[in-house]
Amino acid sequence: METEKVKCLIIGSGPAGYTAAIYAGRANLSPVLYEGLQPGGQLTTTTDVENFPGYPEGISGPQLMEDLRAQASRFGADIRFGIATETDLSASPYKVIIDGEKQIETETLIIATGATAKYLGLEDEKKYAGMGVSACATCDGFFYRKKVVAVVGGGDTACEEAIYLAGLASKVYLIVRKPYLRASKIMQERVLKHEKIEVLFEHNTVGLFGENGVEGAHVVKRMGEPDEERYDIAIDGFFLAIGHKPNSDIFKPWVRTDEVGYILTEGNSPRTGIPGVFAAGDVADPHYRQAITAAGSGCKAAIEAERYLSEKGLV
Ligand code: NDP
Repeated sequence: METEKVKCLIIGSGPAGYTAAIYAGRANLSPVLYEGLQPGGQLTTTTDVENFPGYPEGISGPQLMEDLRAQASRFGADIRFGIATETDLSASPYKVIIDGEKQIETETLIIATGATAKYLGLEDEKKYAGMGVSACATCDGFFYRKKVVAVVGGGDTACEEAIYLAGLASKVYLIVRKPYLRASKIMQERVLKHEKIEVLFEHNTVGLFGENGVEGAHVVKRMGEPDEERYDIAIDGFFLAIGHKPNSDIFKPWVRTDEVGYILTEGNSPRTGIPGVFAAGDVADPHYRQAITAAGSGCKAAIEAERYLSEKGLV
C-alpha cells in the first residue's frame, strides 16, 4: 500500500478541522487535511449563520466554510478529498488509512470528524431539508420568529431547544414519543410550565406536508394502541433534537469515549491521552456544538500539536 509520512494530519473539514489547519499551516507544520464524507461539515447544510463573530450581516453556511477552507489553503494546508477508513494509534507514528487504499503515517493527529444529527428517517425530512426541517435551533430558530414550530425529542437537548425557540416563536410543540420526558428535572419543569410550549406526550411524527416548505406535520398519538389517534398540526418549522452521533467509530479502539461515543479529552484541552493525538470540535463536545466553539478547539489542537512536535524536536 502506498505510504506517505506527514507531521500533522487533520481529519475532518468543519470549523474545527479548518481552524486547526489554519493554525498548523501558520506554524509551519505542513498539515494535510482530509475532508471526509461531507466536505465543509454540518454547516454546509444550514442556510444563514448569524452567530459566528465577525459577520455583522451574517453569512451563508457554505460560504463560511469556503472562506475557512481558502484561509487554510493560504497558509499551506494540503486539503484533500478522502475518507479515513481505518486507524492504528497503537504507537507513533500513527497510521491512518485513506479510502482503504493509502496509508498516512503521522506524528500528530487531529481528529475533527464532527457529529451527525440523528433524524427520524422520514422521506419528508429530506424533502424539506433547509425548507423548514432543521436539527439546530440555535442556528435556525431566528427564522421562526412569531411562527409555530415543533421540536421532536424528550431529552435535555429537546427541552433546551424548545425553551430557546419559545423565546422567538409564537408557539412550540414538543413531540415526545414516551409518556414522560427523559430530560433533567429542572428542564422538565421549565418546559412543562412554559406557556408557549405544548408537550404532546406519546406522539410520533409520521410525515410532513406543505407547498413551498413545511406547513404541518402528520402526527399519531399512542401509535399502534387500540385508541390510536391520527391528526395534523400546523407548523412552520420542524426541529429534530433526538440526539447526535459523534463520528468516532474508527478511533474507538484507541481513544477513550463516553457511552454515546464522544471522545473524552483531558480537562479543558483537546488531548486524548495518546501523545500527539488530539480531538477537536463536535466529535468531542456533547454540550456546546457550535461553529465557534469547534473553531476554538481546533485552534487549541493545532497549538498542542505544534508544542508536541517542537518538544520532540520535529519542527
Ligand atoms: P438524549 O439521548 O438524552 O435524548 C434523546 C431524546 O430523543 C429522547 O427523549 C428519546 O426518546 C428521543 N428519541 C430518540 N430517537 C427517537 C425517535 N426515533 N423518535 C422520537 N424520539 C426519539 O439526547 P440529548 O441530545 O437530549 O442529550 C444528549 C446528552 O447531552 C444527554 O446526556 C444530556 O443530558 C446532555 N445534554 C445536557 C445539556 C445540559 O446539561 N444543559 C443540554 C443538552 C444535552 P426516549 O426517551 O423515548 O428514548
